[in-house]
Parts: sequence; C-alpha cells; structure tokens
Amino acid sequence: MFSLNEKVQNLTPYDPITGQYPIRLDANESFITLSKEMKQELAEELQSTHFNRYPDPFAAEVRAGFAAFYGVPAECVMAGNGSDEVISVLMNAFLQKGDTVITLERDFSMYSFYASIVECNNIVVPKKDNFSIDVDRLIETANRENARMIVFSNPCNPTSLVLCRDEVRRLITSVQSLVVLDEAYMDFSSESLLSEFSEYDNLLILKTCSKAIGMAAVRLGFAVGQKRLIDVLQAVKSPYNVNTLTQTVGTVIFSHPEYIRTSIQRILESRDDLYKAVLKLAEAFPERLTPVKPDTNFVYVKSAESRAIFAYLKEKGVIVRCMGDCLRITAGRNYENEAVTEHLEAYLKGESR
Ligand SMILES: *Cc1c(COP(=O)(O)O)cnc(C)c1O
Repeated sequence: MFSLNEKVQNLTPYDPITGQYPIRLDANESFITLSKEMKQELAEELQSTHFNRYPDPFAAEVRAGFAAFYGVPAECVMAGNGSDEVISVLMNAFLQKGDTVITLERDFSMYSFYASIVECNNIVVPKKDNFSIDVDRLIETANRENARMIVFSNPCNPTSLVLCRDEVRRLITSVQSLVVLDEAYMDFSSESLLSEFSEYDNLLILKTCSKAIGMAAVRLGFAVGQKRLIDVLQAVKSPYNVNTLTQTVGTVIFSHPEYIRTSIQRILESRDDLYKAVLKLAEAFPERLTPVKPDTNFVYVKSAESRAIFAYLKEKGVIVRCMGDCLRITAGRNYENEAVTEHLEAYLKGESR
C-alpha cells in the first residue's frame, strides 16, 4: 500500500458546518449582498468574458483597483485565491524545511496548518489572560529562536482585539523575522499599518475581500509589501491563481468605493448593536457570560457554558462558532442579531442550565 508521508498522516480537512440553518453567524461573513444595479453590472461583464482564455496571471486590473482603494502602489500588491492561498504561497516562498515560524495562541488556525505543510518548526507564543498580545515575550522569543517568520491577525480572529499601531511597529523593528500582519478585519478598526508598509523591509500585510467587502464567495485576497517581497510571491504562486471571474468581480467592487465604505458603516452599526445586546445579558447574568469589546465584525464571548449554548442555539436554527470556552458570533442583519440574543436570553433564563 502506498505509504503516506508523516506530515499528512494526521491531517483532518477543515470542517465547517454545512447544511441549512435559517441563521448563520459563524463565519464572519458580511450580511450585505450586492444591489440589483451591481449585479446587473456584473452580468454585463460576464457577457464579454473570454471563457476560453486563461486569466491575466498578474491580475493587473484588480490589483490596481485594490491599490487605488487602499492607497498603495499596485506593484507592491499580490493577489491570491483568497488570503488563505496567499498565506500558503508566502510560507512556501519565505520558509524552508526546519525554519522556525512563530504563531500566537489564540489566533487564526490556518497559520499553523500551512506552517506544518512546509515542515517548519512552529513555536506558539501564548497571549495574556485578557487575550492581548504579549509583545515583549513575542520579541524575546523571536530573537532567541532566530525565527524566520511571525504571523498573526490584527485585529485578531477569534479574540476580536486589536493591537495598537505603536506596538506593531515596535515588534517589526525589534526582530529580524518577516512579520506577516493579517489585517483581514482592519476595515473595522483603525490601527492599520498599510499606509506605512513601505518603511519596513520585513513586513507583509494581508487583506481579504471575504469580510468587510462582502465577497467571500469569489475568493480574493491580497498581500502588500515592499516590491522585493511581492516579486518573490509573484514568482512562487501558480501562474493563474486568480480566475477571470474573480478578477472581474473584484475590479467592479473596487470601482465602487462608496459601496464598500457604506457597507463597513452598516456592519459596524450591526456589530455595536450585537455587542450592546450581549453586554446587557452579561450584566444580567454576570457569572455566565463575558463579552470582549470588539474591533471586528463579530463578538467574542467567554462562557464556561459555550458548548451548551452552542447546542441550544443550533437547536433553534442559529449557528455561531463554538471555540472551547468561547463563542464567536458574527454581526448579522437586525433580525439575526435579535434572534441570537433572544435565544441566548431564553437559554440563560431557562431550565437548560
Ligand atoms: C477570514 C479570514 C481570512 C480570510 O480568508 P480568505 O481566504 O481570504 O477568505 C484571513 N485571515 C483571517 C484571520 C480571517 O479570519
């Protein structure tokens, strides 16, 4: 029998919840869907698409659209099939077998996963008890271990906390490692380093269209960094990694900056509503629930009863994400936020304790 190599022997595929549930607040997607007019615009683009031809390997138009929206030079942007692919490409590019990569705990799980595929030594630096990043410890560990890469999300998925710009700068300038700063949720916060990325030769910033921009379906993500780093990513990625339809949709979206800004505003309002509602419940049931003040489009709630709450909500047709002793609830439409808080309240009041 063909023997599987060690690194893939114990892999389990990513297993999101599938199936039909009336309310899905588990994947941090945007609740906003495209307007009729924008769908019409896309339909017209589809008419002139050359389906028989390969995509533009440089994804030039959509990179230019992204670059214009975020105010960075297009030559310093690489596009990928979701930022998940970008993470995979950058690890393949900048790490080799045996290199040390530092991730944090708690953080986005895909970093460790891709690091294991490139056979790297993954050191996990714990966060403080309040979920904040221990920058001193991170710097000390990176320098002691001669780490090639440090990767983390800011604001963080799942903790919903942001690390302030000064602390991120201090990290970048105190280590020799490549710092991969995943700003997937930074559109909901204000500590971005995007405007000063060019000052650092050891910084890559990741962005995605899956969250604030509401395009999780099309799979489009970006890396931003000094041209020397971006050129390497362009060389390592597979030539046609971003398909033509995705490039087209992305180009249309970035040509509507007002749509993106309004969407972010609406999501922030929903997030504030959800946080306030959960906070009110936490005040009524203080021993049982502790929400974190979020810098993201979701609310992270600590509770010893997270599993029971998750099961109760699921029974009611509401899916949130259960992560050990915490729940992660994506901000949704008004009625979705109301449904999740009403069911949560019923659970807390109910016999199901
Ligand atoms: C959702 C998310 C992404 C985005 O992944 P895509 O592949 O672009 O959909 C990246 N990083 C973090 C931390 C995320 O939560």
